[in-house]
Amino acid sequence: MPIRSTRGTEVRGEMWGASGSPMKSLAVLPYPNAAGGSLQKVSTMCYCDKTENEILDHLKRSLVPDDALLRLCCWRKICQVRGKRFNELDDRTWNKLCDKRVALNAQQKQTG
Ligand SMILES: [Zn+2]
Repeated sequence: MPIRSTRGTEVRGEMWGASGSPMKSLAVLPYPNAAGGSLQKVSTMCYCDKTENEILDHLKRSLVPDDALLRLCCWRKICQVRGKRFNELDDRTWNKLCDKRVALNAQQKQTG
């Protein structure tokens, strides 16, 4: 639905009409830490395709993306890595991740 432009505000009206709300792009950042490492496209790739070492590294540095925590196949893989390499990962770090996952799940249920 186009915004009816009044005299003198044509340009502003068009901009707002096109994008709805101006700052929306900030809301969704699926891989917030991707900039720190290699800039791979992750859209088609599942997190569980990563190597154990990569996942373990992410676990240690709390870089595991939210998507991976919510997706069951990826979470299983993460648990596998944790199970195999539990001596390399702090209980505290692991518990924090579990807490985060629970919180994310709760959030998802709320929103839909
Ligand atoms: Zn997966």
